[in-house]
Amino acid sequence: MANILKKDAFILPEGVIYLDGNSLGPMPKAVSARVQTMLTDEWGEMLIRGWNGAGWMDQPSRVGDSVGRIIGAPAGSVVMGDTLSLKVFQALAAAIKMVPDRRVILSDTGNFPSDLYMAEGLVGLLEQGYELRTVAPEEVMDAIDDTIAVVMLTQVDYRTGRLHDMNTVTSVAHANGAVMLWDLAHTAGAIEVDLTGSNCEFAIGCTYKYLNGGPGAPAFIYVRPDLAETIQPALSGWLGHRKPFDFDLNYKAGAGIERMRVGTPPVIQLTALEVAMELWADVDMTELRAASIALQEQFITEIERDVPQLTLASPRDSAQRGSQVSWRFHEGYAAMQAVIDRGVIGDFRAPDIMRFGFTPMYLDGGDVSAAVKIIADVMNNDLWDVDKYKVRSKVT
Ligand SMILES: *Cc1c(COP(=O)(O)O)cnc(C)c1O
Repeated sequence: MANILKKDAFILPEGVIYLDGNSLGPMPKAVSARVQTMLTDEWGEMLIRGWNGAGWMDQPSRVGDSVGRIIGAPAGSVVMGDTLSLKVFQALAAAIKMVPDRRVILSDTGNFPSDLYMAEGLVGLLEQGYELRTVAPEEVMDAIDDTIAVVMLTQVDYRTGRLHDMNTVTSVAHANGAVMLWDLAHTAGAIEVDLTGSNCEFAIGCTYKYLNGGPGAPAFIYVRPDLAETIQPALSGWLGHRKPFDFDLNYKAGAGIERMRVGTPPVIQLTALEVAMELWADVDMTELRAASIALQEQFITEIERDVPQLTLASPRDSAQRGSQVSWRFHEGYAAMQAVIDRGVIGDFRAPDIMRFGFTPMYLDGGDVSAAVKIIADVMNNDLWDVDKYKVRSKVT
């Protein structure tokens, strides 16, 4: 596991045990100096010459390749840009066009609401009789039949961490003639995936969670290489055009995955992400997954031993779980605020879920035990039962 634990590479505030890297990863130490250099030497000195001279224009593909490496996607099949919600729209719009005689988009009730909202928006915009159908996560496989155009799922449930089997679901979708779209928001940097091996058509995900790209870091989109030259982008922005600087009046889709670019890339944010991705260059995802499971198993064992008030909301079988462990507690919001106040940062998801993420790049077994001690103190002594912990903030 020599290349997994890299605590020294991150800024982790004194007195904080950070169990929320599944929501916003911490800042790699190298980011601030490199972003500063980008600001002063590139934006400051080069001005507009930075687009060519500092490689800004190629950054979305360059960083896309570094993300591709950890999700089993070949070079040239992933590009960065926009936010994940927009990538849902973009991928789904391309996917439904591939199955023109079908009208059902299948998803599940464990999906992140924004993915469902974006699908609803697309359905409403098209006015062609499309339907977004959501079933319980356990019922997805049975709900795939030859009326389904696209199966759109998030692999890891943001609340419980429940994991879909990517290869199995994809092959069932394909056997029924449906296109497969995976959201890897809680997968990329958390568990090993082999997009090529899964044969799915589309995958998308964000980079501010396990990849530590910083708040607002751009999302990624993968299109299976054999399709990249044929899909027609619905978000047909100028930087996805074959020749943006010809300033043609008509859109011609760019080469391969480049067509999934839309507009001007967020260079400052991409620079932070590019630096963060350097930490992944030597990471073996199989080893990282093993380390993540070891931390989660330790956490479950110790919480169940010391804090019987909490009920496991995540699958008990580690093979069925992503890289987080969630617990149900009727006053989960207040309990989480009390825990955070004592330096253990997790988060709360309505209605009653206390969620803790496990990130072996900057957490070890000692952190897990120290966190459990604090959680046990809060729970066993009702330290959460204080008015100030019950006032809901905008972000939970
Ligand atoms: C985190 C997350 C999002 C957030 O989308 P943004 O556009 O980046 O705000 C969307 N979908 C899923 C599945 C997520 O986990």
